[in-house]
Amino acid sequence: MTLKATDLLKYEITPFLFGVLYSRIMPKPTENSNPDSFYIYTAFRTSKAVLRSSFSLGKYASKLVQQYNKYSGYLNWQIYRASDDGIELRFPIQNDLNIDSAQFYNLIYKKLRSSTWLNTDEISEEKKFFLRGYMESRGSVDTTLKLFAQDYFYNNRFELKRVQLLTDDIGLPISYANFNPRNMQPQFVSGENKRNAQFRINLFYYARNIGFINEYKALIFEKAYNPTSKIENEGIIYYQVSVPDVNNHVAFIKYINFFTNNIYNKDLTPKKIDILRRQLGFNKGQSLNQLGRNKSIVDLFDELSEDKCALCGTNQTYKKKANGRQAFEIHHMIPYHNGQEFDNIANFVKLCPTCHRSLKKGSASKADQITSIITILGKHPEVFEYTSSALGIENLPRLAEEIWTLLG
Ligand SMILES: [Zn+2]
Repeated sequence: MTLKATDLLKYEITPFLFGVLYSRIMPKPTENSNPDSFYIYTAFRTSKAVLRSSFSLGKYASKLVQQYNKYSGYLNWQIYRASDDGIELRFPIQNDLNIDSAQFYNLIYKKLRSSTWLNTDEISEEKKFFLRGYMESRGSVDTTLKLFAQDYFYNNRFELKRVQLLTDDIGLPISYANFNPRNMQPQFVSGENKRNAQFRINLFYYARNIGFINEYKALIFEKAYNPTSKIENEGIIYYQVSVPDVNNHVAFIKYINFFTNNIYNKDLTPKKIDILRRQLGFNKGQSLNQLGRNKSIVDLFDELSEDKCALCGTNQTYKKKANGRQAFEIHHMIPYHNGQEFDNIANFVKLCPTCHRSLKKGSASKADQITSIITILGKHPEVFEYTSSALGIENLPRLAEEIWTLLG
């Protein structure tokens, strides 16, 4: 008997199973509009790094089923295919709610958000299990780039931004997370090669701190890097390797938010892509650090957002002497002095100088300023989305009032 969606939602879901669910939910195709069932899966192929004679993938499948069942809390994982070329396991879920996979995903997300283990500061063992489920089920060990990488699928803005949960709530250090929007590669724009976006974690960080369940994926790491010490603890395999000190935290947040707001679902010409690539520091000889952090984000937003006031809607102000462009100013929706994290592209709106002045503390009445904030958030769902999650307030008037109290 197949596990029902209602049962899964009703009973406890282990952090590992949440991780696999959060990674990708597949509809089982049917002729009806809604699928009869969903499934989550893990699938991987043989790697050149491991000699075929030294590890039988075909035989390993049944052990992997046991491991996945144990960490999922359900005896529901099944071998879909297994040979020495590769393994695919599936976890079927009967769609007794008659919903589509996006709706099911949202229900899972809602349940995940109410998990108490999500609210701890440190990366607890529960959070590590979530990461293992998320990364290991579909991730592949990229020994060339030293990354644990997985294709990143999304059907809408919400799903596109969901990866931020890994850094904001799970506590994955931003410096070890990496989003690669391959839609921005020249081959994608020309139609030559439309590859999926990828989410990636530094492989050494993963091997040392999170650890592998999948013995084959661990072995790929081992064969590629010959780590001096391996630790097995309660079925998880860790390697004592030194983790490189990388500093691309600006890039990660920037890519995700920038991509969501300015690139996703927008018509991009090759010329526009070229400008974007240069500004995001993709092209050679121009690193984000060289550009200077804060300035580059504000400039980038200024350059690419439409010259239109987010409050009054005007696109005519006055011409700036310096460059002949219309004068607009960039406003931090949650004021910058409340924390460096608010220096985030999703927190920016473009305002005409008059409206910008009217939002300075004390320059208009409380009621007027709150009305203005509500207007801006109402017109700009992406800014509402960011400020709402940053301050943890979903109610628009309450959110506006909170933002008002933070004005400087
Ligand atoms: Zn204005």
